[in-house]
Amino acid sequence: MKNALALYDPQIYELIKQEATRQSGSIRLIASENYVSKAVMLATGSCLTNKYSEGYPEKRYYQGQQVTDLIEKLAQKRAKKLFGADHANVQPYSGSVANLAAYLALAEPGDTIMGLSLTHGGHLTHGWKVSISGKIFNSVQYPVSEKTGRFDYDQIADLAQKHKPKIIISGATAYPREINFKKFGQIAKDVGAYHVSDIAHIAGLVVAGIHQSPVPYADIVSTTTHKTLRGPRGGMLLCKEQHAKSVDKSVFPGLQGGPHMQTMTAIAVAMAEADTPEFITYAKQIVKNAAALAEKLMELGFNLMTGGTDNHLILIDLRNKNISGKKLAIALDRAKIVTNYNNIPFDPAPPANPSGIRIGTPAMTTRGMKEPQAKLIAEMINEVAENIDNDEVIQGVAKEVLMLCSEFPVPEHFIISNGHKQK
Ligand SMILES: *Cc1c(COP(=O)(O)O)cnc(C)c1O
Repeated sequence: MKNALALYDPQIYELIKQEATRQSGSIRLIASENYVSKAVMLATGSCLTNKYSEGYPEKRYYQGQQVTDLIEKLAQKRAKKLFGADHANVQPYSGSVANLAAYLALAEPGDTIMGLSLTHGGHLTHGWKVSISGKIFNSVQYPVSEKTGRFDYDQIADLAQKHKPKIIISGATAYPREINFKKFGQIAKDVGAYHVSDIAHIAGLVVAGIHQSPVPYADIVSTTTHKTLRGPRGGMLLCKEQHAKSVDKSVFPGLQGGPHMQTMTAIAVAMAEADTPEFITYAKQIVKNAAALAEKLMELGFNLMTGGTDNHLILIDLRNKNISGKKLAIALDRAKIVTNYNNIPFDPAPPANPSGIRIGTPAMTTRGMKEPQAKLIAEMINEVAENIDNDEVIQGVAKEVLMLCSEFPVPEHFIISNGHKQK
């Protein structure tokens, strides 16, 4: 494949090579990113990309589904087992589409939905005004507590009583603490709302049993497959049997045409990888690495939102350092440490140049880095922050990063399975 691409399209081949070099030669701390296994890559790049399979197993609109039916049923079965769900839909193209499909399975345009404000760590698709979710629904956004930076469940319950939403969304994209999905379920129940839980970021921590699973407490659980879960880029919906038909209809034909079979195939592979003791070890290490990174950063005088982390991510409030999030993120990128600037809750600065950066540990953990490396990375971040306009220092950090990267090459195979068999 590599040779064919080099022959037919040397330009693109060269760019892919450059990106591979960038990925292996930098410390990737974007909380939503990871490295997938060779097995997931192979499935993603397989001949399944050639097949149209609109519909669901045994209910397709085109012929030639002898194999795709088997693959989709296997992907569904593995997803249901992994998450302990009654029903799984493995067709959503991404987390965003999965969320919209979940809402439209339970509500009509014009109904009220209630999700975490984007500026407090919620996702665009949780009802933010520029997203379709904030346009076709009447969106009410709940905040985090100004005092603690954490959810104030009583405040959320009060808002729910006031607005009587049709759907309450739990889940976040930049929230460093464990979420009490049981409480969200109760809040929804008390006002007769449906509960949609979006675990895009923490799905890997949930399947490893480190964080509470929303599956028992939510009508529909939505997730991406490519963040901590470490699969191909895609989305997935899990639900109780009573919602199975409306969820399926909402995805297809409601929102999508033919599913991306190559992605679904790779999702099946990733689910098998996630159903192993090695995956649990990896997921636990993600959290340990984030804790070590957080501790060292605080030692170095950084303020962290909520004063730490329970999961894979850290939100740094840079106001005491007098550096904007954007300036630090750009300087870190020059030092080959890749992060993203992020607003912090109640941020006085504008969204285009906010006061925070978000960092996460899934990708470094996949490379095999542990607490000592997490602490070293915290020191490197500090060095860049302290020398933000000194290019010589920044280039020095970049050299250290390259050395660290060469000690922890990007692995191709994660699961050395001793008799592990996927049924
Ligand atoms: C990443 C994310 C999504 C969106 O996923 P895409 O695959 O980028 O569409 C949805 N919800 C949350 C909470 C996310 O973090």
